[in-house]
Amino acid sequence: AKSSGRGHVKFFNNTMRKKLKTHADIENDLQHGIEHNEFELYYQPIFTIQEAQVIGFEALVRWHHPTKGFVAPNDFIPVAEDTGQIINLDLHLLDLAAQQISHWYQHGLPFTRVTVNVSSRHFASLDFVAQMHALYKKYQLPLGSLCLEITESGLIGNLELATKIIKGLAPLEVKLCLDDFGTGYSALGYLHQLPIHILKIDKSFIDHITKSHNPLIDAILSLAQSLQLDVVAEGIETEQQLAILKQTPCKFGQGFLKARPMPAKDAKNVILHGL
Ligand code: C2E
Ligand code: CA
Ligand code: CA
Ligand code: CA
Repeated sequence: AKSSGRGHVKFFNNTMRKKLKTHADIENDLQHGIEHNEFELYYQPIFTIQEAQVIGFEALVRWHHPTKGFVAPNDFIPVAEDTGQIINLDLHLLDLAAQQISHWYQHGLPFTRVTVNVSSRHFASLDFVAQMHALYKKYQLPLGSLCLEITESGLIGNLELATKIIKGLAPLEVKLCLDDFGTGYSALGYLHQLPIHILKIDKSFIDHITKSHNPLIDAILSLAQSLQLDVVAEGIETEQQLAILKQTPCKFGQGFLKARPMPAKDAKNVILHGL
């Protein structure tokens, strides 16, 4: 008994303790953060590969934590997903994005689409369609002004439900983008069954396009073409990557080379004056 007890002590090493503490901390702080408006959306431009014309933005959350300072999404989104708080957080962030769109719209800025990341768990919940309809009504959003980014796991776990949800969003002209494409199940068979509109090629593929032949990207692009999907290449960091993409049929891109995620006031300047 003694040795198994010691085994447990050893098993719970300091790193794990720290991790557990952080996990619990974040869990406690998330709800507080929503209520006290500690979350801010940054907006990263999505542009045409050929002309660098901005066609929209991806909204990316930033947490201004009262004591920890800046907390990056990768440090709290997974926790929120584990605890189920992601649904509340998603709803809060969708509300912030809708508020921003309606603000720009009312100030006469050119139409801009905002893409919001939605967790699989939230997207595949029964209330989701009604929540989106309520959001459009609350902010009088122009049709087609929202795009939702979802990863494969949210869609192929229950194809029938996902299809029903996407169809329920169709009257709002909400666009659906499959995020991080190529990193998940990579089960291509399901793609043609889903009424999605956009594929986002994961950054890990763009990282490797240093030569002119890119069989994987070419395959994704021809797949997208045959399914009539738009493609966004994410994580474009170098002129060389952009130059190579210009020689492909990939229409849209996003990445630090052209613009980092930025606060709404800077995004407004991009809407007005371009990149
Ligand atoms: P993601 O959806 O794949 O978002 C792209 C991430 O890549 C963002 O990191 C973005 O800032 C970063 N990125 C964009 N261009 C470049 C580039 O050229 N180089 C490099 N190195 N990185 C680039 P971020 O903002 O830290 O977000 C990380 C992840 O957290 C996101 O990955 C997404 O899964 C999640 N996330 C962020 N915001 C939200 C949100 O509002 N809701 C939900 N549910 N998840 C979010
Ligand atoms: Ca995304
Ligand atoms: Ca992504
Ligand atoms: Ca990613």
